[in-house]
Amino acid sequence: MSFPDSRMRRLRRTEALRSLVRETTVEPGDLIYPLFLCPGEGVRRPVSSMPGVFNLSIDEAVREAEEAAKLGLAGLLLFGLPETKDEQGSGAYDEQGIVQQGLRALKQSAAAKKLVLIADVCLCEYTSHGHCGRVVKTPDGFEVDNDPSLDLLARTAVSLAKAGADIVAPSDMMDGRVAAIREALDHEGCAQTPILSYASKFASAFYGPFREAAGSAPQFGDRKTYQMDGANLREAMREIDLDLEEGADMILMKPAMPYLDVVRAARESFDVPIGAYQVSGEYSMLQAAFERGWLDRDRATLESLLGIRRAGADFIVTYFAKDAARLLA
Ligand SMILES: [Zn+2]
Repeated sequence: MSFPDSRMRRLRRTEALRSLVRETTVEPGDLIYPLFLCPGEGVRRPVSSMPGVFNLSIDEAVREAEEAAKLGLAGLLLFGLPETKDEQGSGAYDEQGIVQQGLRALKQSAAAKKLVLIADVCLCEYTSHGHCGRVVKTPDGFEVDNDPSLDLLARTAVSLAKAGADIVAPSDMMDGRVAAIREALDHEGCAQTPILSYASKFASAFYGPFREAAGSAPQFGDRKTYQMDGANLREAMREIDLDLEEGADMILMKPAMPYLDVVRAARESFDVPIGAYQVSGEYSMLQAAFERGWLDRDRATLESLLGIRRAGADFIVTYFAKDAARLLA
């Protein structure tokens, strides 16, 4: 059947009709809100490259959690800014580490019962060099040494799970970390703690503002020897396959908007829950356009999230989570 019998516009005439035939939705319950925990009390330090994002002391983070729960968000993804850093990133697996303390405080709040608390597992926020694993010097510079990093990552995951994380999310991109973390969790009585693996994490310029927020910029070199090359889709599928084989329960893809084809390919290949992280640079470039009046804030915010859901993500980690939930209410 073709025109004039077929008229696609018939089903677009009213909002009620459009709503009836809408294929994809975004709900507050699809959204995870990242928080950056820092030492102190009553601290709410703005991140200059990310308008509306703050470094929060734990008491302030608890207030954010209450708001997130009220808005119906799915959960929080926690990052930490430690008091001090060292070569080994020991703040990542310290029982008194900033995220561990934050998790214990959040677990006591009423809000936490409605939220999934996800703890990022990585070393870069805690190492003096800012890399995601152990660094060794080599004749031609340095190397992020894979295998010795696994033990530190596994210790970090166990420590976060014991402090109250509902899910641990390794983001380091070392080979074999999921298996190492699974084994350590099981061995330490945390067999019920799921792993959300950042399975396909690309070395991206869009992480720039996050490094200010989390104070995690590498002090030398870059992360291209462990994060993926942005040109490679087939390799991303292999990364996901391996992480699932090692015991990942869910996967997280990152960045989102410049890699929607990768999200779609993963959706078609893997029947596991898939999340996508709308990263700092995606957020900041939209914010910059909003500030200049170049884009309609509300519509562009929701459209950016709808696109990620349509590509196949079940849930989205986004700095827009609270704004979006208010718009959807
Ligand atoms: Zn890292």
